[in-house]
Amino acid sequence: MSDSQTSNDQTSNNPIKPITQKQISASSDINNKNNSGNGVTLSVVQADITTLNVDAIVNAANSSLLGGGGVDGAIHRAAGRELLAYCRTLNGCQTGEAKISPAFKLPCQYVIHTVGPVWHGGNQHEPELLANCYRNSLDLAVKHNLTSIAFPAISTGVYGYPLDKATKIAIDTVQNYVLTAQKQATNFSIREVVFCCFSASDAAVYKQVLESI
Ligand code: ADP
Repeated sequence: MSDSQTSNDQTSNNPIKPITQKQISASSDINNKNNSGNGVTLSVVQADITTLNVDAIVNAANSSLLGGGGVDGAIHRAAGRELLAYCRTLNGCQTGEAKISPAFKLPCQYVIHTVGPVWHGGNQHEPELLANCYRNSLDLAVKHNLTSIAFPAISTGVYGYPLDKATKIAIDTVQNYVLTAQKQATNFSIREVVFCCFSASDAAVYKQVLESI
C-alpha cells in the first residue's frame, strides 16, 4: 500500500531536504516514486514552517485566532499585520475546527488556522479533537484545490500534548485521510503533506513513526 524511501529529492519548490519521506498510494502501483497518478508524498522536515514554499501552512492557533506564542506568533510575525486584521473577521475557531486565510507576506499562499486540544491527561477527547484538526485542515486544502500542505506538531508545545502520542495521531490521520480520498477517486488535489518539526528531536520522533507505517 505504500513504499518507503529516504532520498535526496527535494520537496517540490522547497529548498529544505526532507529527513524522510513516504509515498502513500491506494493503487497497486506501490513503486510509483515519481508521484505521478494520485500518489501522495508524506515527508518530515526540520524547519521554521514560515519559510516553507508550500500552498498552505497550518497554524496551531488558539481559539481567538488573534495570535499567540510558539508557531502562531512566528506565523503572525512573518505574515505581517494584515494577517491579524484578516483573522479578526473569522470570528474565532473552536477546538478541532479549521479556518483559512491568505498568507500575506509568507512564501506560501494560504494559512489554515486550526485549534488543537489542550492536553488534560487524554480522557477529555484529546485524540479525537487532535485528529479533527488534521482532517478539517485537509478538508479546507482540498476545498481550495491545493496541492501541498505543511503541518506543525499541533498541540505539542504550550498545549502539552505528549509528542509520541500526537505524532502517531498526526501521521495515522493523514494517512487514513489520503487513502480514503484516493479510494473514493474524487477530486483530490493534494500531492504532498509535510510534517514540519522545529527541533531535531521532534523530527526524529516523526521519522520513526512515518517509517513504521
Ligand atoms: P500548541 O499551543 O498547539 O501546543 P505551539 O506553537 O506551542 O502550539 O507548539 C506547537 C509546535 O510548534 C511545537 O512542536 C513547537 O516546537 C513548534 N513550533 C514553534 N515555532 C515553530 C515554527 N516557527 N515552525 C515550526 N514549528 C514551530
